Amino acid sequence: MTYHPQAVPLSPVDERLIAEAARFGEAVLRPNGERWDRDRIQPAAELRDAIARFTPTAIPEERGGAGANASTMARIYEELSRHDLGFTCALAVHSNVTVAVSLTPNAPLRDRFLPGLLSGKAIGAFLLTEPEAGSDATAIRSTALRAGDEWVLDGAKAWVTNGANADVLAVFAQTEPGSGAKGIAGFLFDARTPGVSFSPMLDLIGSHAMGTTDAAFAGAKIPGDSVGFAPGEAFKAGMYAINVARIGVAAMCNGALRGALDTATAYAAARTSFGKPIIAHQGLQWILAEAATALEASRALTFQAARLLDAGEDPTLLAAHAKKFATKTAFDGISECMRALGGNGLKREYGLARQLAAARVTECMDGTGEIQNVVIGRALQA
Ligand SMILES: Cc1cc2nc3c(=O)[nH]c(=O)nc-3n(C[C@H](O)[C@H](O)[C@H](O)COP(=O)(O)OP(=O)(O)OC[C@H]3O[C@@H](n4cnc5c(N)ncnc54)[C@H](O)[C@@H]3O)c2cc1C
Repeated sequence: MTYHPQAVPLSPVDERLIAEAARFGEAVLRPNGERWDRDRIQPAAELRDAIARFTPTAIPEERGGAGANASTMARIYEELSRHDLGFTCALAVHSNVTVAVSLTPNAPLRDRFLPGLLSGKAIGAFLLTEPEAGSDATAIRSTALRAGDEWVLDGAKAWVTNGANADVLAVFAQTEPGSGAKGIAGFLFDARTPGVSFSPMLDLIGSHAMGTTDAAFAGAKIPGDSVGFAPGEAFKAGMYAINVARIGVAAMCNGALRGALDTATAYAAARTSFGKPIIAHQGLQWILAEAATALEASRALTFQAARLLDAGEDPTLLAAHAKKFATKTAFDGISECMRALGGNGLKREYGLARQLAAARVTECMDGTGEIQNVVIGRALQA
């Protein structure tokens, strides 16, 4: 059985791209997601394929993109995440890097990296978080200091999604130690630069397709023109990117819960207890009904936030609400859907345990629930 959501996007969307994502999810992610996670694989070839199909979506046509919008991207993420949330996170981080590159005022740098990021020739990674600076990103300590024609980078980065297969790095580093956000610049450079190293892939249950690693810079020299966003500008640009990312995470969580409802309703229709299909027991029906209600509310909120982004309005507040609500809704809802499968819900073959673990990861990405509350709480005082 398939769950057919009622809440619809509020901006016009590109149905052709959404249908392509649904087909890709069925053909590529559904049969492989569990194996990639179990065997600890980031599927680089499939990721490059997905990049070529979907990353251009929200990039303007004059920059080589498809000229669609954030609402279409949200629906694409939703379709893919029904089958594999971790894989979709990897695609989303890459796509967010690509959006940032398309917006840099440094046109030669943009033209050097954008075509590869759009075609899938290059996989992008976003390096902001450090071992000692997560939620408080202004506290990063990696430095980029000017030496003649070059910049020299030193420091450590943590939680690098796509680190296992990255070709292009978007790195935030401090150009004036001690100056906080004012001194932080955004750099764009080749991942194979001497002095840049990556740890082996982190062993994260449910999320191996994200290819997450740690990374380090030891006197890594990059060209003087590698600044995508100058000191003082990088944080502003980062805030735009984070709104895009939060709406994407919300959409992915909605997709993961949709997929769990599909699995639960199909199982509950086929399995019998006390002489009837378990879905016919009201007690179980209501558990799934609660998950469906929460999903509809989450989708409606996500599409509201995406509509603001599409309209060029500030989506910061609704993006924070949507991200916070969707991550919690997915985690709680997938866990409830697992009830319908009894003990079988824990078996890898049904995919729900993997999706539940991945939903927990999304809680950390692009600001935890508490950090969304910081944004929302600030607005309540304004
Ligand atoms: C699988 C995975 C992939 C990731 N990929 C990337 C990536 O590609 N690039 C990247 O830059 N980062 C990435 N991250 C990092 C992610 O952005 C951070 O985990 C997140 O910002 C939280 O930071 P932290 O884990 O250091 O937690 P901390 O900042 O140490 O927070 C710990 C706890 O304290 C709470 N807390 C902190 N400050 C406050 C406050 N003011 N009020 C109330 N509570 C607070 C937090 O909500 C959290 O519950 C990834 C993380 C994971 C798990």
